[in-house]
Amino acid sequence: METTLLTNKENLIENNVSHELDSLFKPKAIAIIGASSKELSIGNVIIKNLVHYGFTGKIYPINPKEPEIRGIKAYPTIFDVPDDIDLAHVIIPSKFVPQIIEDCGKKGIKSVIINSAGFSEMGEEGMALQNAFLANAKKYGVRIFGPNCQGIINCDPEYNAYCDFTFTFPKPGSISIAALSGGVGAFIMQSLFDLNVGMRMYASNGNACDISLPEVVNYYGEDEGTKAIILYTEGFHNPKEFMDVAKIVSKKKPILAMKAGRTEEGAKAAASHTGSLAGVDIATELIFEKTGILSFNNEEEMCQAAMAFSTQPIPKGNRVGIITNTGGPAVIATDELVSAGMQIPALSERAKNILKETMLPEATIGNPIDVVATGGGKHFRSALDVLMEEETIDSIYINFVTAPFTDTDDVARNIVEVNQLKRKPIICNFMTNMSLERFQVTSKILQDGGVPCYGFPTTAAKALGVLYKYHVLQSRNIGEPTQFGDVNKVSTENILLNAKKENKEFLNSSQVYNILSNYKIPIADYRIVNNINDAISAAEAIGFPIVLKAESESLVHKSDAGGVVVNIKNAKELSESIEKMEKKFAVDDLQFLIQKFLPGGRELIAGVSIKKDLGHLILFGLGGIYVEVLKDVVFKIAQVTELEATEMLTSIKGFKLLDGIRGQDGVDKQSIVNIIQRISQLVTDFPEIQEMDLNPIIGFKDKVIAVDARIKI
Ligand code: ADP
Ligand code: MG
Repeated sequence: METTLLTNKENLIENNVSHELDSLFKPKAIAIIGASSKELSIGNVIIKNLVHYGFTGKIYPINPKEPEIRGIKAYPTIFDVPDDIDLAHVIIPSKFVPQIIEDCGKKGIKSVIINSAGFSEMGEEGMALQNAFLANAKKYGVRIFGPNCQGIINCDPEYNAYCDFTFTFPKPGSISIAALSGGVGAFIMQSLFDLNVGMRMYASNGNACDISLPEVVNYYGEDEGTKAIILYTEGFHNPKEFMDVAKIVSKKKPILAMKAGRTEEGAKAAASHTGSLAGVDIATELIFEKTGILSFNNEEEMCQAAMAFSTQPIPKGNRVGIITNTGGPAVIATDELVSAGMQIPALSERAKNILKETMLPEATIGNPIDVVATGGGKHFRSALDVLMEEETIDSIYINFVTAPFTDTDDVARNIVEVNQLKRKPIICNFMTNMSLERFQVTSKILQDGGVPCYGFPTTAAKALGVLYKYHVLQSRNIGEPTQFGDVNKVSTENILLNAKKENKEFLNSSQVYNILSNYKIPIADYRIVNNINDAISAAEAIGFPIVLKAESESLVHKSDAGGVVVNIKNAKELSESIEKMEKKFAVDDLQFLIQKFLPGGRELIAGVSIKKDLGHLILFGLGGIYVEVLKDVVFKIAQVTELEATEMLTSIKGFKLLDGIRGQDGVDKQSIVNIIQRISQLVTDFPEIQEMDLNPIIGFKDKVIAVDARIKI
């Protein structure tokens, strides 16, 4: 089944059509299998909702005993319905579902929303029922939404399809929601409703056994009426499928996403309540990042950003013009805007000259433009017009306090008029007393005019920050992974084959270093020897000072056990150190690694770990023996492109150390970027590599060199 879905998806992406889900989102005739006359049952509420929301198609309650339900003629079976049906709700006990899906197939129904629970989330027996109905669905080409789900809503007045048992009736708008959890989906829908933000489509698909979240996201991506997508998930059944879709859709329109289960405890709760797949939790953030999704930790901020996206254009840059009629809030807003990476540039002479003419004498002419509390509609208007013309301004932030001695409605009308030109995004922090009727009127003018209004300067500034972030994501071109042609795959393959034959989990040092050399990852000059005499000649060949390391399969962290001696300057020191190690490590396979001593560099780490269903994660950060303490590392999903490798360097906390501080040298960053990409290529070429660790890589001004490495297969 997974493969059919994927093929469908590829077709959808390639042909740019998604009619397959039209029967779900744009139904013309809906059967409610399990319709009930009991007021408080799902089979009744769905009919009530469809009628209440003004569904434009036909409703067919299916019930073996009742002649009508909620005044609508009911039929004993779907076969008794004289017309075609494109969508069915199934609200009957799970054990009857496989047969009903077979019937739906025979009747020619194209999509089925299974509201009933009692499937994969209920263990083996439920899983068997799920497999049984899926087999029947496949036989007839019926697409399944759910089971154990709410359903869908299409607010387009052409359909008014409220195929759901929830209780929020949104006005039509441009935000579409896809949520795995019905509870979260419903409260996001309610929050948008409370913010007076219109909705386009809604889908909450529970166990998501057939129609997947990515498929829905793809559908929204192609829906012209959807301006922004809100996504809530608790894990990905198939992360790669999701990434393929998200990458394409996020270029077209913003995807605002939240994933619960970031903590281990949260992940457990998610896994047990929807039967979804946890275990890719740390990786979700990386998936969002790689695919250009706007990721949120806070559902309220997500809804507030959605409000801005629903009416505002995307800014073309980070430069904000601020208009305010009160001082303090502009300061707070500035702090938030700047921390979101935005700037408040000075105004041009042209702008200042105009404002000198149009503003009240008390006004402050600059950025922010303080029109002062006595400023009215024409003052706001002139400030807005000026900022719209400024080439150095990309978006506008307004603080509007409803001073009782001004015509606040006139201010609102002027803001709305400029807003409706949609030249640059406008965000408004609207400070008022909403219990006064007078200001309710002002507020309504702003809302009806599509001006996103917020109750706090920080909240408003944050929403604008997200619009800007989307601009950044949309303009970010991660490029294709570099393919280094100078690598030796054949030799690497042989080394790995040998290691597999020896049944080894960890490769030995010479195997590891040979693989690194094959992939042109610079390593310190080294020899592996068995006795003092060979050690001395090796050290002389490499050149003192050297580092001595004990080599044995049983030694993982050598320095912990006293297996590393650095800065050995001569043969005498070397033989003493070897004698000590021989006493300390009474193991049969003891050997010695003699390595060039490379003092004075910055210790870095690069590595790889594998994530189920997702592939390799590449790691980079500050390394050395304190890596676990500092934890200054970042991950990305392989394959890593040059841009991504560069971003890895700039996103660690200690980034400044790489540039050099306090008279210390920086490190050769381009070489690190290359090493990260070469590692990414290595593990992509050889997916059997489970883990890899170059720690430390020592960074100097003009080179970076690995001095310790481990590979696990
Ligand atoms: P392990 O990680 O098994 O303890 P390493 O080979 O990473 O052993 O060595 C531990 C530490 O010794 C490194 O973090 C580094 O500080 C230092 N070190 C090891 N090899 C070298 C070298 N060739 N030049 C300079 N310092 C080294
Ligand atoms: Mg090490």
